[in-house]
Amino acid sequence: MKTQSHKMSVSIDEHQSHLERLIPFFTRLDEEGTTIEKLPQERREQYQLEAVNLTLEHIWSHNEFYRTALEEAGFAEPRIDSLEQLSTVPLLNKDVIRGDKRKLLCVEPKQIGQVHLTSGTSGKPIYTSYTLADQYVYDLLPKYLELFTEKEEDVAAIALPYEFALPGLGFQRLYQFAFGTAVLSLGKGGYMAPVDKSLALMKEYEATVLATTPSYAALLAEESERIGFRLGEDIKLRRIMLTGEGCSHTFRKRLEKAWGCEVSFFYGSTECGVVAVECKEHNGYHIMEGHVKVEIVDPASGAPLGYSQTGEIVVTTLLREGMPMVRYRSGDIGYLQKSQCACGIRMDVLQLRGRMENMINLNGDDYSPFLLEHFLMEVPDVGMWYHFILEQGRLTIEAEPYRTKLTDSQLAEKIRAHMSNRTGVDCHVEIKRDLPRTFGKATRVFVR
Ligand SMILES: [Zn+2]
Repeated sequence: MKTQSHKMSVSIDEHQSHLERLIPFFTRLDEEGTTIEKLPQERREQYQLEAVNLTLEHIWSHNEFYRTALEEAGFAEPRIDSLEQLSTVPLLNKDVIRGDKRKLLCVEPKQIGQVHLTSGTSGKPIYTSYTLADQYVYDLLPKYLELFTEKEEDVAAIALPYEFALPGLGFQRLYQFAFGTAVLSLGKGGYMAPVDKSLALMKEYEATVLATTPSYAALLAEESERIGFRLGEDIKLRRIMLTGEGCSHTFRKRLEKAWGCEVSFFYGSTECGVVAVECKEHNGYHIMEGHVKVEIVDPASGAPLGYSQTGEIVVTTLLREGMPMVRYRSGDIGYLQKSQCACGIRMDVLQLRGRMENMINLNGDDYSPFLLEHFLMEVPDVGMWYHFILEQGRLTIEAEPYRTKLTDSQLAEKIRAHMSNRTGVDCHVEIKRDLPRTFGKATRVFVR
């Protein structure tokens, strides 16, 4: 019998939503003392089909753009008979909604409780609007008590952006409402919480959990060494949740070593919210099937791909009333596997390969930047800051030395030989000492 449950539930008075019809499913799981994580496939799919159909009905009745797209695709009513049929629903491209804050809105503007924006590094931002019920009722409805082991005794430091983007506020709600932990809202090096002050606060409040990006976790580790804090003693974390940027298994391992605790990866986006999270086995990310239905499609044709086939990750949100995302093309590459994970969680496993535009083509083969990062991090003399620069098909690696006795030219040659051995491709290596640290999203790949 489970002893842990979500700390709080919120009800919003006089609020009606199409999502209410999904509440009995989760109530039944609570009564059975289980969560969606370990349900047999059939029951998970039944739930997902019902949730997709409720969402289709909702967007059909409340949004002109979605309705027109469905009608043009031949839908006479907003309904599919099986999850496979989801592939007949039109895909949603980023370009269509970029810079347009109303296009996907499915509620009256006065019902909006929170607005989020993507960073908009490539042009205009994408706006997402959440109702209060989205944030405080439905987003917290599915429980994943195997994936999240946080408890009210934990103190969670959240070093993620709070301005505009979802991650900071999303983790804040999750930790406070689901687990009842104390939260230190650090943000990422802003006016009120510069890096040294953030570290001091983590020490003072004995933080046990840190949610941040891979690059900021590296930066915090570096800075704590500089100011004389011993990680594992002065700051003694139990777990780090990484999100925002992807990273390789080896980079994650390095962070585990630096911080002396488990490091797990959390995959989500400002548009779609939570998508997948790593379990304790660290063999990929379990899809959070209570929140999303994930498909993989051929990036060129949009045709659905099966298990183990690599393609673009497409997400349909299941628990949104304000702005549901239906078959949203994430621009991320990966593939799905049926779960045979030793952790016992049955939800599908996602293997993430990175952003589509960051794929590095070397001699005709596409390399995921995470794979190249993995190769680079295998060299123990290399630090955690680096750049991959692809110029006219030729790869240059800028890397920093890390606790090494090698001279710069010896290190450059060691990296070059190792990368050539791993990829079969010759690259050029430059050893640097001043690669820029970032408080934003780390840019590591440059295609010129
Ligand atoms: Zn697992």
